[in-house]
Amino acid sequence: MSNKLIYLDNNATTRVDDRVYEAMLPYFKEEYANPSSMYQFATTASRALKDAREQVREFFNAKSEKEIIFTSCGSESANTAIRGVLGMNKNKKHIITSKVEHPCVLNLYQTLEKQGYKVDYIGVNSVGELDLEQLSEAINDDTALVSIMYANNETGVINPIAKISDIIKSKNPNTKFFVDAVQVAGKIPIDVQECGVDLMGVSGHKFHAPKGVGALYVNSKTIITPLIIGGHQERGKRAGTENVPYIVGLGKACDVARDFMKYEATEVKRLRDKLENGILKNVYNARLNTGLANRVPNTTNIGFEYIEGELILLHLSDLGICASSGSACTSGSLEPSHVLRAMNVPFTAIHGSIRFSLSKYTTESEIDYVNSVLPGIIEKIRNISPYQEELAELKRRKSL
Ligand code: PLP
Repeated sequence: MSNKLIYLDNNATTRVDDRVYEAMLPYFKEEYANPSSMYQFATTASRALKDAREQVREFFNAKSEKEIIFTSCGSESANTAIRGVLGMNKNKKHIITSKVEHPCVLNLYQTLEKQGYKVDYIGVNSVGELDLEQLSEAINDDTALVSIMYANNETGVINPIAKISDIIKSKNPNTKFFVDAVQVAGKIPIDVQECGVDLMGVSGHKFHAPKGVGALYVNSKTIITPLIIGGHQERGKRAGTENVPYIVGLGKACDVARDFMKYEATEVKRLRDKLENGILKNVYNARLNTGLANRVPNTTNIGFEYIEGELILLHLSDLGICASSGSACTSGSLEPSHVLRAMNVPFTAIHGSIRFSLSKYTTESEIDYVNSVLPGIIEKIRNISPYQEELAELKRRKSL
C-alpha cells in the first residue's frame, strides 16, 4: 500500500478549503451564540448568518437573500424542494424527472408513487443527454413539478437548464421546476435568473465546504411547505437552530469558488483531459462513456471492457489512488449503475466503468502518475479475465 494519497473522487466529497476552515473557527468556541437570541453577544453570530446568506445569494445570482434557505445537505435541499412544492399543490399528482437523477431524488419519487403520485422518468441518449422531446410531451395540466439535475454525478453531463425551463413554462406556466445543482456548484457559474428555475439545491461538501451544510434557492414566486417543522428559523421554511459555523463555511466556499471558477474551466479541465486522453491512448479496451457530451470540467467516466470496475478500484487503492465505480453492490449481486444503464452503455463496459473526478487540488504529477500505472493495472486484470478472445479481438481492431 502506497502512503501517497491521490484523491480523484471529488464528486463524492471534497477537501475543506483552508480559507473556509479558518472562517468557521471563531463560531465554535468564541462566537457560539444562538443567532436568534436578543442579547448583544448574539450580534456577531447573527451578522455572520446574514453575511453568509448574502454570499450564497450572490453565488446563485438570486434576486433576494430571502430566497435562500440553509439546509444540512443536498439530499435535504432536494427533499425540501420536492415535498415543499407538492405540499402547496395537493390537487396535482403528476411529476416529471429523469432516469439518471441522484438516489436522493429517485428514491423519494418511489415513495411518492406509493402515495398516489404519477411520476414520468425521462430517458437519456447514449452519451447521457436528456431527451427534451420526451420531456416536452410529458408535461400536462396536472404536472406539479419537473425536477432535473444540472449535471450528473457519475458522468458529469450537463443538462441545458435554461432550455428545459423554457420548455416547461411554455407548456404549463404553473409547473414548478426544481434543479439539483449539487454537481455543478463550484464547477461552472450558476445563475438562477438566467436559467429561469424556481428551486435549486446545492451541497457544501461538494465544493470545499464541510459535510453537513447545504442551501436551497426558492424564488419569491414559489411558496413551499416546510419539511422540518418547529421554530421560525429560515422564515419558517426550515426549523432548527442554524448551524452557524458550517453556514459561515458555506458562504466562504461560495466566495472562494467564484474566484476559482476560471481555474476549473481551464486548469482542472486540462488535467481531466490529460488523464482521459492518456487512458484512451494507452489502454485499448477503454471507452469514454459520455462521448462528446457537454460535461463539467472535472469529471470523466471511462468504461474498461470485459473487466470488473471493482477490481480496478482495488488495485488503484493499493497505490493510494481514490476513484469510484459506476456500480453499486446491492444484496450481494453487482448491480450496474442506473445512469449507465439508462445510457445503454454496452454490457461489456458497464461493469468496468470508473469515474475519476478532479479538483483544484489535483496536480499534474498526480495525473502523470495515474496515467503511468493504470495501463499496467488493466493489463494485469485483463490477463485473468475469462474474455480472452473478445479482448484479443478488441486489441486487433484498435491496432488496425
Ligand atoms: N445530488 C447529487 C447530484 C449528488 O451527487 C449528491 C451527492 O453525491 C446529492 C444530491 C446528495 O448530496 P448530499 O450528500 O449532500 O446529501
